[in-house]
Amino acid sequence: MCDCINDPRINKYTEYVIAMQRLQFHVMETDDGPDPLGQLGKALYDLAQVMDRWYQDHGRLLDITAQINQGVFINDVLDYVYENFRPVIPYDRMGFSLIEDDGKVLRAHWSRSDSASIQIGNGYAQPLKGSSLERILQTGEPRVINDLEAHLAAHPESAATKLILAEGIRSSLTCPLFALGKAVGFLFFSSNEKNTYKDMHQHLFCRVASQIAMIVEKSRLYEDLYNLNHDLMEARNALAHQATHDGLTKLWNRGAILELLEKELARAKRAQRGIAVIMADVDRFKQINDSFGHLAGDDVLRAVAARLAEASRKEDSVGRYGGEEFLVILSTSDLSRVEATADRYLNQVASSPVHVADVQIQVTVSVGVGVAMDPNAEGVTATNLIKMADAALYRAKDGGRNRIEVSTA
Ligand code: GH3
Ligand code: MG
Ligand code: MG
Repeated sequence: MCDCINDPRINKYTEYVIAMQRLQFHVMETDDGPDPLGQLGKALYDLAQVMDRWYQDHGRLLDITAQINQGVFINDVLDYVYENFRPVIPYDRMGFSLIEDDGKVLRAHWSRSDSASIQIGNGYAQPLKGSSLERILQTGEPRVINDLEAHLAAHPESAATKLILAEGIRSSLTCPLFALGKAVGFLFFSSNEKNTYKDMHQHLFCRVASQIAMIVEKSRLYEDLYNLNHDLMEARNALAHQATHDGLTKLWNRGAILELLEKELARAKRAQRGIAVIMADVDRFKQINDSFGHLAGDDVLRAVAARLAEASRKEDSVGRYGGEEFLVILSTSDLSRVEATADRYLNQVASSPVHVADVQIQVTVSVGVGVAMDPNAEGVTATNLIKMADAALYRAKDGGRNRIEVSTA
């Protein structure tokens, strides 16, 4: 029997236990002798080690779950887990697969590895029914395989095991994820070493599994919503484009180019800057329709539109005013620039015949220009600018076509 009451180690151990109550686990010394009291000290030391490890893991898990809960996209959350989970569970690779098709298929959705050779890449799909993974879902417990080579020898049919072995992986921890009681997928931790995974890792994973599963479910819903929203935006943009553009020539349509003219004129008035409207009309277009057919006529209109757009500056607005008439708005009263633009239109359209089916169709336009040097002068309205351009166009037609006339105000 030892004289325990007077043994100074009693006080020391009491202090250790009190320190542990305060979550201080680093105060223990190891060697207090082989007698029963010394062994108690050793047992306390071992306990402190376990508590210390548990306490640190707990803190890490709290941090990780807090971060996980902040995430909205699965991939961001998984990247975070990959970068921070190692002190809790060891791995050289992590993979994540989602259960799809009403539980029939498991599809790899994300993976990261410290080595370059990923064999089970994103999109890799395997049937779930009858697989060993399905059995994991039935038990709900993580599964450890600590020797994948032996596992393959016992299950030579497992294609996924073959692939993962080819990546250099030797042991794995497969964790099922359930959200609100529904299986949503699997998280795979894999190590290049045999015998990496212990019961402890299974338990640790179980403590964060439901958080990860919930975020998977949350982010899946969020991604669905995000994609839906994206599709809606695209549809809305397409509709807006359709509402303002001409289907045949893809230029601004009549409504849009008239609205742009109103806006540009208001801007010109505010900036005391001149404005010009150019009207281009295809010469003898009816003959083209009559000779080559309406469809060929459409092709000619498309080609003329493209040539006008090509000959325009980015800041000029080009639209289809009606049938074979086009309207361009230039925010300048610099006559030489306006005439140079009109010249380019004439030349560009007439530069080479339009090739339609087997025929070459020579096309020209006549151009009428309406220019307001002082946009704030009386009577300068969008309607009047168009009237001026129209009147000039008539003069160009009367003057023999394929030519330019200008009206100024
Ligand atoms: P001008 O030199 O005096 O302008 O003669 P024109 O033949 O070009 O003029 P007119 O106004 O007599 O004929 C225009 C023709 O354009 C009549 C119409 O059928 C045709 N047209 C209008 N819109 C389209 C279209 O979208 N496609 C085709 N193929 N033809 C169209
Ligand atoms: Mg016309
Ligand atoms: Mg015409």
